[in-house]
Amino acid sequence: MADPQGFLKHTRAEAKKRPATERAADWDEVYLDQGPEVREAQVRVQATRCMDCGVPFCHSGSAGCPLGNLIPEWNDLVRRGDWESASHRLHATNNFPEFTGRLCPAPCEAACVLAITPDAGGAVAIKRVEQAIADTAWENGSVKASQSQVSSGKKVAIVGSGPAGLAAAQQLTRAGHEVTVYERDDRLGGLLRYGIPEFKMEKKVLDRRLAQLRKEGTRFVTGCEVGVDLTVEELRASFDAVVLAVGALRGRDDTTTPGRSLDGVHLAMEHLVPANRACEGDGAPAISAAGKHVVVIGGGDTGADCYGTAVRQGALSVTQLDQYPQPPSQRDDARSPWPVWPWILRTYAAHEEGGERRFAVAVEEFTGEDGRVTAVKLRKVKVQRDSTGRRVVVPMSEEFEELPADLVLLAIGFEGVEQMPLLDGLGISLSARSTISCGSDWQTSAPGVFVCGDAHRGASLVVWAIAEGRSVANAVDRHLTGSSDLPSPVIPN
Ligand code: SF4
Repeated sequence: MADPQGFLKHTRAEAKKRPATERAADWDEVYLDQGPEVREAQVRVQATRCMDCGVPFCHSGSAGCPLGNLIPEWNDLVRRGDWESASHRLHATNNFPEFTGRLCPAPCEAACVLAITPDAGGAVAIKRVEQAIADTAWENGSVKASQSQVSSGKKVAIVGSGPAGLAAAQQLTRAGHEVTVYERDDRLGGLLRYGIPEFKMEKKVLDRRLAQLRKEGTRFVTGCEVGVDLTVEELRASFDAVVLAVGALRGRDDTTTPGRSLDGVHLAMEHLVPANRACEGDGAPAISAAGKHVVVIGGGDTGADCYGTAVRQGALSVTQLDQYPQPPSQRDDARSPWPVWPWILRTYAAHEEGGERRFAVAVEEFTGEDGRVTAVKLRKVKVQRDSTGRRVVVPMSEEFEELPADLVLLAIGFEGVEQMPLLDGLGISLSARSTISCGSDWQTSAPGVFVCGDAHRGASLVVWAIAEGRSVANAVDRHLTGSSDLPSPVIPN
């Protein structure tokens, strides 16, 4: 039984970060390790703030955790110091809580009853508790490989090794299917490996989970583009079902601003992938911010990743531009009394490490000399709705300003699935949003071919990728055996 007055005795306390100057000089994780003493002295107190609500909005309803994480249950177990049982309850709904504890913007906290209760001290620090449970379990050696005792004799190919593909693979392997994950890159992990900077999640966190999957029997093939290196005919002949977890990596480009074609103007991923490869030991990145004036366009997660990466690479200056006004500002699309912080303008740890943010501005032109960008021309703007409800950017000044820029990074979103021979070979066409459509059973227009994660949903949160991976595993298991005991936390949108 939770302490219903715990939140009156204790206020919310965030996990501690390393000093900004220290972390800007290396690639290690921003947050200090919540070692055993911190967990006992601080995290248990944070868990004590949970009221075990009759209707726990944190894990139910449309606003809470898509995985249906049993948050009040494990909060109470942590309150009582039973970390091992807390880990079992956490892993019951989430294959990779150490990923979500580090990377998820925590819709559960936005939905927490304490988040909207006046003078309640803020939401329960759910994400902090989650990471502490997962890290404790790894440290104590209680995260074990769980080998299936049955074999279905069915073979499943999963294309893509990001969080959706890995969650589907673990669920299906544990259900007794023979699962092979294909990854076109040279290393596993998709965006977890080459999109997320080391300072947000060190790759050793990913590698120990991959080792667990291997031990459980999941097979991995890297450097293989399915549809090219393994033909569609070979794929179809070798597997009883196929899951497409290929992500939504087509970066949104700026096709209208004059000067876009100048050297030095790049999509965000053209900067982040080589930077992450350099951390893996692949040598100096082809596109680096070292010694440059860097302008990052876009105020979201990817923009903040570019920002923190540019600071660590030794940029002369880093400026991030956003069309929206300065936080804390609830954007005009907030429709409920609940805070919506995973989706509104946020401040990231990277912003404490140097550089500057500029708000309510838009780029009018990239200017340059000898074919290379040297500056961006800005002016003040306002984002508002037009008569059809569409967001439009309206100039608020006739004056322009020039910012020096040797490297411009466009972090303005993603536009769906990349073109790939595999989709053509399977006869799969893309939706108007350039994602892969499916029926209520997660099956695409190609029989026996399923989809999950960003490839289906469009670029989204890691927690949604895991939730869709778990759900597609249920659907594939049913397809292959006629029924399934695997959980299915979400339905296709
Ligand atoms: Fe605890 Fe908040 Fe969930 Fe209520 S909504 S059960 S207080 S975490």
